[in-house]
Amino acid sequence: MPQQTGLAVDPGHWIGGRRQRSAARFTDHSPIDGSLVGEFDRGGAEQVDAAVQAAQQAFPGWAKTPRAERARLLHAIADGIEARLDELAAAETLDNGALLRSHLRGVIPRAAHNFRFFADWLLDGLHRDDLDTRGHRNRISWDPAGVCALITPWNAPLMLATWKIAPALAAGNTVVHKPAEWSPVTASLLADITAEAGLPPGVFNVVQGLGAEAGDALTRHPGVRRISFTGSVPTARTIAANAAATLTPVSLELGGKSPLLVFADADLDLAVELAVGQYDNAGQVCLSAVRLLVAEEIHDEFLHRFLAKAGQLKQGDPRLPETDLGPQIHRRQFDRIDGFVQRALAEGATALLGGGPNTDLGGLYYRPTLLTGAAPGSEILTEEVFGPVLTLQRFRTEEEAVALANNTRFGLAAAVVTGDPERAERVTHELVAGTVWVNCFFVRDLRAPFGGSRESGIGREGGDWSFDFFCDVKNTVFAPTGWGNRG
Ligand code: NAD
Repeated sequence: MPQQTGLAVDPGHWIGGRRQRSAARFTDHSPIDGSLVGEFDRGGAEQVDAAVQAAQQAFPGWAKTPRAERARLLHAIADGIEARLDELAAAETLDNGALLRSHLRGVIPRAAHNFRFFADWLLDGLHRDDLDTRGHRNRISWDPAGVCALITPWNAPLMLATWKIAPALAAGNTVVHKPAEWSPVTASLLADITAEAGLPPGVFNVVQGLGAEAGDALTRHPGVRRISFTGSVPTARTIAANAAATLTPVSLELGGKSPLLVFADADLDLAVELAVGQYDNAGQVCLSAVRLLVAEEIHDEFLHRFLAKAGQLKQGDPRLPETDLGPQIHRRQFDRIDGFVQRALAEGATALLGGGPNTDLGGLYYRPTLLTGAAPGSEILTEEVFGPVLTLQRFRTEEEAVALANNTRFGLAAAVVTGDPERAERVTHELVAGTVWVNCFFVRDLRAPFGGSRESGIGREGGDWSFDFFCDVKNTVFAPTGWGNRG
């Protein structure tokens, strides 16, 4: 029997403002040491239907609630998250193995900020000037769409879920959220927080369970008006097919194979710092720039400095302040990562760093790895690994660098390190990616669009883009004469 963690969290669903149970359960184990986090209720079509119905019933009242009151309640939820910062951070670390210090300093506060941001954007930012058509007034408004199905992954559970929950609720929609089965804890705690904040019953609902069961039922449900999904490409294909049957709009935030381009004129210390930073969250970050593309002239010096810096990374218990890399989330994910690495090595790649499990620590700890010499087009250069595995390639010209960078099915992000502003202009225009960073990484403004090109996704979220997705955007045209022109 695995040891119990003793975490106080309700394992049930949250439907219509009440805890509801299922007969079936799934177990959730901590990646830190395999201890049992909890036995959660395993929802299916019945619980999904109950949750969608509860959300449908709550919708008219919530949609008509004045914007200022909705915003007040979202700020109250943010207050609740901030008041329980330590508890949420500890729970999330136990559940998904990401660093406690990252949760305390950045990830959980960002979840609170998501609510504050979209509450304020609703009041101040969501406005477009009326258009005039030969004296006719075009008034553009954002009507809430209805019940939104929000499905999220395990790598930053609360932050990624609230990135969708907050704008959906702010816009006047009601929500059914299905968190990932490997990290169900903070969604349950968030349900408590929404109740404490005074959110009316049925406005926010959580169905716990497996993707192929609860997730599948939710994305097939005819009562759902929007589906926003963050996760992998294969799951996105299934969800998009389900949504096609009901023509429900989908927003898909998916995986990547992002490049980091280091030009000969780059600040090398900065380039190395950004490159080593890609091991953040043990490589379980969709945006990670895992393909290091380095100019031939500086390749050897870059590598020398990279290995020196990466060699100092401390791997271990993510609850300890000195730890840089925690465990991978799950045995299945760990084995998948090792499969990619071992196949790459067997096909002729060389490990310049790591290259296998951390046998000193055991469990789910995988060594930060850097591979070179992989054949062009090979699996390790094209498939998303979602672990602490980077590849190194060299280029001779700017054109070659751009061609290598864009040689992928994905288009989530890219980073460029250069000292030449004109080169930065040229290269950033050429790159296919939803977000491109120049001499920086991971800087995010919630007003800006976020999403992926090609197989990295469909649609953009953030600022107005979130409201555009979660609303039925309406244009009302008033004739030149009459009362319509007064307002
Ligand atoms: P996943 O696709 O396996 O699961 C994501 C969610 O979908 C989970 O809640 C899961 O239960 C659910 N799901 C699974 N099968 C389903 C089905 N048939 N119908 C409905 N729902 C289903 O992804 P994951 O392994 O949890 O997450 C890792 C992936 O997420 C990586 O590809 C990563 O790049 C991506 N990701 C993208 C972003 C982004 O913003 N673009 C952010 C974080 C993670």
